[in-house]
Amino acid sequence: MACSGRSIRKKMDGFLAAKHLTGVASRAVLSLLVVMSVAASDDVAEARQVHRHHARQKAPDPQDLKFDRFVADFRITALAAGITSATYAAAMSGIHRNGEVETLNQEQPEFVRPIWSYLDTAVSLRRVTDGQRKLAEQASVLSAIETRYGVPREILVSIWGNETNYGDVTGSFNLFEALATLAYDGARTDFARNELLAALTMVQQEGLDPKQVRASWAGAFGQLQMLPSTFLKSAVDGDGDGKRDLWHSAPDALASAASELATDGWQRGREWGYEVRLPANFPYELADGETQKSISDWTNLGVRAVNGSLLAANSEDAVIYIPAGRRGPTFLAFSNFKAILKYNNAVSYALAVCILGDLIAGRPGVQADWPREEQPLSRDERLAFQSALLKLGFDPGKLDGVLGRGVKAALRMYQKAHGLPADGFPTLGLLTSMLVEVEQKKL
Ligand code: CA
Repeated sequence: MACSGRSIRKKMDGFLAAKHLTGVASRAVLSLLVVMSVAASDDVAEARQVHRHHARQKAPDPQDLKFDRFVADFRITALAAGITSATYAAAMSGIHRNGEVETLNQEQPEFVRPIWSYLDTAVSLRRVTDGQRKLAEQASVLSAIETRYGVPREILVSIWGNETNYGDVTGSFNLFEALATLAYDGARTDFARNELLAALTMVQQEGLDPKQVRASWAGAFGQLQMLPSTFLKSAVDGDGDGKRDLWHSAPDALASAASELATDGWQRGREWGYEVRLPANFPYELADGETQKSISDWTNLGVRAVNGSLLAANSEDAVIYIPAGRRGPTFLAFSNFKAILKYNNAVSYALAVCILGDLIAGRPGVQADWPREEQPLSRDERLAFQSALLKLGFDPGKLDGVLGRGVKAALRMYQKAHGLPADGFPTLGLLTSMLVEVEQKKL
């Protein structure tokens, strides 16, 4: 048990009174503030642990029973949806609750990798040269796909590289065991039940042996990591052998991804966006990835191409992203960027796809520097960040340690209220200032 919140608070009062804190974060001060902010929840956590300790002494594991009951009950849903008893038995017999899937699903990382570190791997020189080789190897296939779906070849090869390192890492979980584990209990049951039904439909339609279908822990499979529901909607036969084999046929996987992107709104002949730069007095709250403006409106706000020239004319509205805050690179993005977000809904992922695609096609990479000196926030610090925003009157949504859209929006409001540039980028410096304010106001 950590030392009590009250005794630390007493020490901190003296500390705050004695020492003038500069805007620069001191990790020691911060640690103390974070300990204080989480100490209050320790009693609850301890009570829960005691409860769990007693529960552990009983056998058999109720979760195993719940899993088995789910597999038996879901059969009724599946049969009503047209799955045969034979298909259900072939896919679902002998599967078990997968502990590794449960762990990965519940994982709360101590540190979330900063975007620059993620991109270092995602768009490494090796990825680029491998991608350029794939571009040459699959030239005729990609050319046909480009003509049919309007998705540029470098974007498809980039997705291939980002999803599975060009087919190297496609996942080794039993698809049905992974999905049933996510479906029987937990935070993703609706998603997983829908995908499980789609997976059963898929193996039945395609005549696949369900025991041979390998996937990631989250149920995505094949060289471009499609979900079963996406397979049913968008998978196509790219090599003309009459089968849709996203595991072994690169042409099938690439054509299916193009078909999916076209369904998700990819616009033929249009670009995803490009790097830009902002003037010093830019209203950063507009760079939220959601505020849409015409090129002339952005131009009037001082947005310029990264080399300083005027933005090229474009009839589409655009949004602006500053994924590492105002000290990092800035990107202008059109509707094709949104289509990539539908493929995998993470801005860092979509940027990795676009940037790697540019590099594979021989265009320049990111010009501005990333703020690599910023240290990532630990899980306790992320939780403290959320609860400090809440205490100061800026509702960040769920207090879950995930610094998502709600937190960034609340942070922008905090920054505006304090006369700071509202870039919505959480830093240790901001966390320290907020925790000091919480202490001083005795919130
Ligand atoms: Ca095929």
